[in-house]
Amino acid sequence: MSVTVRFAPSPTGNIHIGNARTALFNWLFARKQGGRFILRFDDTDTARSTRAYADQIEADLRWLGIEPDHVERQSERVARYDEAAERLKAAGLLYACYETPDELERRRRIRLQRRLPPVYGREALRLTDEEKAEFEAEGRKPHWRFLLPNFTSDPMSPQRTEMVWDDTIRGSETVDLASLSDPVLVREDGSYLYTLPSVVDDIDMGVTHVIRGDDHITNTGAQIALFRALGATEPAFGHHNLLTTASGEGLSKRTGALSIRKLREDGIEAMSVASLATLIGTSEAVSAKPDMAALIADFDISSSSKSAAKFDPAELVVLNRALLRDMPFDAARERLAALGIEGPKAEPFWIAVRGNIELLNDARGWWTIVTRGPDAAAVLDPQDEAFVREAFDLLPPEPWDRETWKQWTDTVKQETGRKGKALFAPLRLALTGVPSGPELADLLPLLGREETLARRP
Ligand code: GLU
Repeated sequence: MSVTVRFAPSPTGNIHIGNARTALFNWLFARKQGGRFILRFDDTDTARSTRAYADQIEADLRWLGIEPDHVERQSERVARYDEAAERLKAAGLLYACYETPDELERRRRIRLQRRLPPVYGREALRLTDEEKAEFEAEGRKPHWRFLLPNFTSDPMSPQRTEMVWDDTIRGSETVDLASLSDPVLVREDGSYLYTLPSVVDDIDMGVTHVIRGDDHITNTGAQIALFRALGATEPAFGHHNLLTTASGEGLSKRTGALSIRKLREDGIEAMSVASLATLIGTSEAVSAKPDMAALIADFDISSSSKSAAKFDPAELVVLNRALLRDMPFDAARERLAALGIEGPKAEPFWIAVRGNIELLNDARGWWTIVTRGPDAAAVLDPQDEAFVREAFDLLPPEPWDRETWKQWTDTVKQETGRKGKALFAPLRLALTGVPSGPELADLLPLLGREETLARRP
């Protein structure tokens, strides 16, 4: 059977690097197996989900290099969930409960005092039709729980029931269904929590592998039971470790700090983000892959470690530098042109500066220096000023190439007796206005004799 995966964000905020990890694990896995990737918006929470967030998530994924084969929205599939809920009700597997949150909390505390597991005690199963009618008459609406298959004949006496699966990432995993409360599938207002719609979709869409964060491991136990209750065979499951901030807190869509959108706006390369989001917290070395094909080639889904991985934004900058340093002109051409960097000098300019920038946008500053000169004339020490003037008078005739810098400075050294830093630093300052930057051997032929002489103090 061919592989089908899905990435299922709820569009309630911008996705962050941790969500990107889930998306990439699915995408890389699918591409490696020649499978399909579905983008599925879990937007049943209509109060918090917005179309704008959904569109932004889609744009973020495309920017990262993920092109969904298909897009689905749960909000358009409610009729399918209703059907599934009716089937479960008819089978006695979805039952009405009328407890308020306060009542549930009180019962939870009593169970804890009695040293019982703090799970729902299924009291609603004992309600008679008259009692239910009374609640309804009071204006109470039921929420609906799925009866987990953790008993032999009496649901009031659950027994240890192991759900075991061979996790695609973590190996053998077990969840004891007796340790879980029967999950609420439908709220009082008739809306669905994520648990049932997700299973219905995975069945309808032929999902073969559910790859998601390890915060869903417990859910998986209940969802496998739900697949079976709906007469389906469950897909394979794989749970990857989560990313945390440097101080160990979970990432949240709400903070926006490490959102993909922000990183993109900050000018970080998509492949730096994709490489780090994929490789951090795995047994693979973290390095910047130049393109998706390279990331796919080295991707091994089982290399994700079991513990959470700390994400340090400073690492992104390190990867970004490395990526730019090796980036061929063709890969940068269009974006450089958008910054106004074009024409015959654009390629040699890129080769000269790419090893000295953190962000591709930083190239613009160097382009200005090369084509128009430093922002302000360099402030030279008085004794350097005389030296620089003398040096400029020794500039060789054109044509200039990569050897010109050495020829020139050799002559200047002979004529003035200066060497090392005393020789090079004032020349660099006069030419570029800043004390460090790309190799002057590369910059000098870009400037040409006339532009260079224009910088003579
Ligand atoms: N909407 C769920 C989430 O964002 C999806 C979980 C899943 O992949 O099944 O956590």
